[in-house]
Amino acid sequence: MHVSFQHCDQSEQLRLDERYVQPGPLRCKLCGALISAIDVAGAQSWLETQTTRKRELADSGQLATRKQSTQQSDEDIDRDGLSAELAACALLCPGSLKMWCRAAESSKGNRGRDLLRRWTGFKKPVEVKHTRYHDAQRGFLLVRPPRQTPGRMRVEYIDDVYYVLMVGEPYHHSMIGWTDRQGLIRDGELNPVPIQRGQRECWGVHWSKLRPIGELLAEVGCGGKFGALARWLADLGRV
Ligand SMILES: [Zn+2]
Repeated sequence: MHVSFQHCDQSEQLRLDERYVQPGPLRCKLCGALISAIDVAGAQSWLETQTTRKRELADSGQLATRKQSTQQSDEDIDRDGLSAELAACALLCPGSLKMWCRAAESSKGNRGRDLLRRWTGFKKPVEVKHTRYHDAQRGFLLVRPPRQTPGRMRVEYIDDVYYVLMVGEPYHHSMIGWTDRQGLIRDGELNPVPIQRGQRECWGVHWSKLRPIGELLAEVGCGGKFGALARWLADLGRV
């Protein structure tokens, strides 16, 4: 299982079973540039296994689901989401890919904390959102109400996390921007995309209003060993 990316006219591969020596986000080994697009086709069989597992959980009633699109099957949505999340983990915290995989293998849903603080080194968890297409009209970062909540979309349903938006489809994804709770409330709007039959309301922002990924990395609160301990404890508090 591996992921790969291109930079400086070279293709680099990152195997999930090897310990990635450098902490921090994925960078080109030659020029040090941040990598924002990644190919996760090398994880295809793992993604299929996990997509099937999630469908089986849903079919047996152990996992609540909601119809998110009329154009795509639930299975396609699951695969898109997991593939995009794997790509986001490889870009932001490649050293934690193995731990992310283990968490995904045992997870029944992890709203608001797709990537933990102790993996990324960030001050808040990262929630990964994804969309296949983005252009002048399409490509929104959308937040919907949590499962088992009644009624309309509410501002309290926007989590205090860093939201990142991945675009593309399995198995090629790019990280196109990010925002936080405050930014999403300020720049977003209620139901920027039409509500489909059986769907709930949402709050969202067009990708063109998101902030560049480099700014998210500049926000990283490292804080040395104490920061690492604080992040570890903070993650535990939300388990
Ligand atoms: Zn390079």
